[in-house]
Amino acid sequence: MNQMLQPNDVSQLEALLGDPWQSLNTTGFSAVVAADERHELLPAGETLLDQYQLNAQFVPLELGGRLASLNRLIAVMRCIFRRDPSLGLGYGASSFLAAANVWTAGHPAQQARVAAVLLSNGKLACAYHELEHGNDISRVECSAQLGQERLTLQGGKQVIANAARAQALLVYARTASGTGGRSHSQILLERTEASAGSLVDQPRYSTSGMRGIALGGVEFTQCDLPIENLVGNPGQGLETTLKAFQLTRVALPGMFSAILDTGLRLTLKHCRTRRLYNKPACELPQVRARLAESFVDLLLCDAFVSVAANAAHVVPAELNLYGSAVKALVPAVLVTAMDSLASVLGAHSYVREGEMAIFQKLLRDLQPVGFGHAARISCLMTLLPQLPMLAKTGWNSAAPAPEGLFALDWQQASLRFDRLALSSGGQDTLLAFLLTLSTQETPKGSCESEIFHLVRLFADELQALREQCAALPAQQTTARASPESFRLASRYSVLLCASACLGIWQTQQENTSDPFLAQPAWVLAVLLRLAALSGLTRQRLSAALTETLLDELTQRYLSRQSFDLARLPLAATAGWH
Ligand SMILES: Cc1cc2nc3c(=O)[nH]c(=O)nc-3n(C[C@H](O)[C@H](O)[C@H](O)COP(=O)(O)OP(=O)(O)OC[C@H]3O[C@@H](n4cnc5c(N)ncnc54)[C@H](O)[C@@H]3O)c2cc1C
Repeated sequence: MNQMLQPNDVSQLEALLGDPWQSLNTTGFSAVVAADERHELLPAGETLLDQYQLNAQFVPLELGGRLASLNRLIAVMRCIFRRDPSLGLGYGASSFLAAANVWTAGHPAQQARVAAVLLSNGKLACAYHELEHGNDISRVECSAQLGQERLTLQGGKQVIANAARAQALLVYARTASGTGGRSHSQILLERTEASAGSLVDQPRYSTSGMRGIALGGVEFTQCDLPIENLVGNPGQGLETTLKAFQLTRVALPGMFSAILDTGLRLTLKHCRTRRLYNKPACELPQVRARLAESFVDLLLCDAFVSVAANAAHVVPAELNLYGSAVKALVPAVLVTAMDSLASVLGAHSYVREGEMAIFQKLLRDLQPVGFGHAARISCLMTLLPQLPMLAKTGWNSAAPAPEGLFALDWQQASLRFDRLALSSGGQDTLLAFLLTLSTQETPKGSCESEIFHLVRLFADELQALREQCAALPAQQTTARASPESFRLASRYSVLLCASACLGIWQTQQENTSDPFLAQPAWVLAVLLRLAALSGLTRQRLSAALTETLLDELTQRYLSRQSFDLARLPLAATAGWH
């Protein structure tokens, strides 16, 4: 690897990717769109990421990698997702999905093997999905027969990223009959271990977005492997999955939110030069409102992701709540915001040529954030069984937040995969903070008093939710739950997000390097958006608030800074003007 590179440095990767608007840049927008048209993963992007050794970001420090903070990993991946989500998912993130399981339950030799594959720029495939069963992994049929010393894989997996080109595969396989929690296990295998004919690649699947990703299938026929390839204990597959995917359900929406950053930047660029009714389109009040709302949506998504990612370090036993809630809420907000921007761009959101062509690709690439890696509804389903206990024990007392929960500095203790849990046991540190805030005196200032009015509205909403969740019957906490029951989990996710935003705001007031985050405007705006999502208010952003947000947005646009909380510098270009 090139010793000059500093792979842990986000700005270094941004600089390597270079000017997105330079037509000769092999990792610029023109090249990205051209590769998408060819249904190919950006070749120069893959070479660059090999050179940068991106995979080291997925490997914990103890195993020789650079994975220290989940938020830092998300920030690195956003450099890629901002310009080519297919490259981000197809080159790297899909390997992280598989690896997280091995970091959670693999034995040291397996962890060392996976680290070696990744650190030599190899890929991992995460083979869960079977077309027949979708999100219902309890019915997965691909099986592993376990013997004393050997195991045998039999059956197929479909629509798997990098299935045919991954050095190693993590396979979710049936090891007992039935649909109970102990009927599946995970098997790790390197391709070279499979004897001839026992692992056959299936034809590639074609998709409307993420076109460059080699989505393939595999068919195992009497694939004989050592029993040591079992990850964890027999029957532990579902448990490991539910733990490891808590991390990835935060990380993936966090990475995908970078798509909204570029979508918003493109829309602003277009509206600053597009003249309608003899004025730049960005002067139209309706356009201004849409731009401001999308900016707020990006901030609230990032705040929720950042706090949930911190929770992975600070309160890992509660990540089972926050990971599912992020995956349930953030994708929906991102998709709605991009659709809103598409309607601002009109036909320019649809053309596959010219400088706006990248927008339609981003719009298509965003869609899997909602249905891939567990549908929104199945994340709500994992929250449902916990709601009655939370209502009875977790949402009763206010408590200050533990140190680091709302920090934005990425300085966290190492991830403790062994501390991930299936249930929070009725603990909910994030909502306890909302309760604490609701008992505080309203600070001075008109914006602040509006914020505290909304805090009390959310506290009342929590009280209502507590009563309804405490009375939730057991049959309403399964896949057969009614829409009203699913709605309880949605409302809970919104409350968690509100608490995350408020926590960041309060922490930034005490110690900030970014005055915008310490000021009340952004948090008032996110609370209004969230209150509207839960149906608590119909109040829209005022004209004054819209202008404050647009000032910030424009200033970041002109100085090439990211629109998320980190406000990171973007690659030098004359293209954003
Ligand atoms: C780009 C891309 C990459 C992928 N990479 C991988 C990979 O690497 N590995 C892998 O294993 N898979 C991968 N997949 C497959 C992906 O995970 C599946 O598409 C996903 O599991 C969703 O399957 P489905 O929509 O068919 O699920 P279904 O279960 O059929 O769900 C469809 C819809 O039904 C509804 N629904 C589901 N459950 C419930 C419920 N309990 N209550 C009410 N409604 C419900 C929801 O609206 C849901 O969106 C990838 C897919 C894409 C597009």
